[in-house]
Amino acid sequence: MTLARRYADTLPDLVSQVVPQPLQGMRLRLVNQELADALSLPQSWWQKDGLLAALQDPNSALSRNAVAQKYGGHQFGHWNPFLGDGRGLLLGEAQHAEHGWQDLHLKGAGQTPYSRHADGRAVLRSTLREYLGQEALHHLGIPTSRSLCLFSSTDTVYREQPEPGAMMIRTAPSHIRFGHFEYYFNTQNTDALKRLVTFTLHNHFPECLQAENPWAALLLAITLRTARLVAHWQVHGFVHGVMNTDNMSVHGITFDYGPYAFMDTFTSSAVFNHSDHEGRYAFDRQPGIALWNLNALAHAFSDECTIEELRDALSRFEPVFLEQYHRLMTDRMGLETNDTGIRLMQDWLSMLATQQRDYTGSFRLLALADLTLSPSPLRDHFPDRDTFDAWWEDYRNARLHSETASISQASLRQKNPAIIPRTHQLSALISQAEAGEWSTVEEYIDALASPFDTRWDDHPFSRPPATPASVSLSCSS
Ligand code: AMP
Ligand code: MG
Repeated sequence: MTLARRYADTLPDLVSQVVPQPLQGMRLRLVNQELADALSLPQSWWQKDGLLAALQDPNSALSRNAVAQKYGGHQFGHWNPFLGDGRGLLLGEAQHAEHGWQDLHLKGAGQTPYSRHADGRAVLRSTLREYLGQEALHHLGIPTSRSLCLFSSTDTVYREQPEPGAMMIRTAPSHIRFGHFEYYFNTQNTDALKRLVTFTLHNHFPECLQAENPWAALLLAITLRTARLVAHWQVHGFVHGVMNTDNMSVHGITFDYGPYAFMDTFTSSAVFNHSDHEGRYAFDRQPGIALWNLNALAHAFSDECTIEELRDALSRFEPVFLEQYHRLMTDRMGLETNDTGIRLMQDWLSMLATQQRDYTGSFRLLALADLTLSPSPLRDHFPDRDTFDAWWEDYRNARLHSETASISQASLRQKNPAIIPRTHQLSALISQAEAGEWSTVEEYIDALASPFDTRWDDHPFSRPPATPASVSLSCSS
């Protein structure tokens, strides 16, 4: 099969051709067959190990067409021009049955011109975390890149300690990051910047071409998508962990999973990335950081847009974020999106924070709670039952006397997952995969595909950690 090469052929000077160099002893361990079928990828890739053979053959069409993309980025607020696909390769693009062209991006296949002194490898730990994270978010309805397949390896890769290596392929509408535009702007390569924007507009944002200034329209479109994305993160208690501008996709999808985590106990300032000493990427700072990143992107557009155009686009972030956040949050709770609904939602969150309750688990219990009961048995979930009782009376009243009274428990369940990829569950699965045991990983992937199903209530897969440990995740991957 020959993949399309729209990016590489249109912007040849923005990529470097790099032949993949898989590690030793690679085995195909996970395939997202549904996604593979939707992309019309050949069955021989999976059934006869045809994909691995093609990646191991430096002369195959797949290997010869692979390219590494150049980009830069603001990392923890500091501009870094030396970034790029240091261990990722764009294999090409395939047409999805419903969602148009998708990049196939291979991670962990060796060094590229942008590796600097790093090894170009990925460890099984981070690869599996990304694979599971992408699928979990997809099935929760949060925009994200997707997982196509994962290969384990018998080779060791050195991080803080020796770890098994791995390789994976993810898909996304493109791998164009904020940092792509920043790089060509900051290096004053105006010609490349213009061609990149033209490519992005024609292939990914054609609706912006009609605008008086397509650059301004593009910035606005990216701003709106990013605002809606971050609202989803805040609603589900998701912490991305490394919101550097090179990890921000123009499509407004969750992208470049590193030390991400879903919160267990609700702490609004939660930080899980152990390199993030100042809490720059804390849970409650994500909306502000997204806007900071959009500001960096706007700067790269500043030769082609007026200050007013840039300001207009960026000024839409906050209202769109808040509108989406309030709507999704009140929907989750069966409330109307009005002052009362928003107040009840905020009081609920304060209660979870003050009483140190599990975030996802508490929402699920609320979705399953019987509104006809007062007091509610849910009071036993809270150390301070009196505070809960008072809130419940208010909540119950609002629910029973509003337009949302007819919302069924089944439909509320569909907005409140029983299972999310909790960090301690992922750690246990990683240990199993490292020991060559993949059957539970496969069961877990199946569970993540139906996160709202009652099968997962009280299932070991959905349990919070026995003792809420403080989670610290390594950025090294
Ligand atoms: P990340 O933290 O994964 O978003 O990566 C930040 C930058 O470092 C990107 O330019 C990556 O390509 C590069 N990078 C990360 N890990 C490696 C590695 N093991 N080998 C080469 N480059 C890497
Ligand atoms: Mg990255």
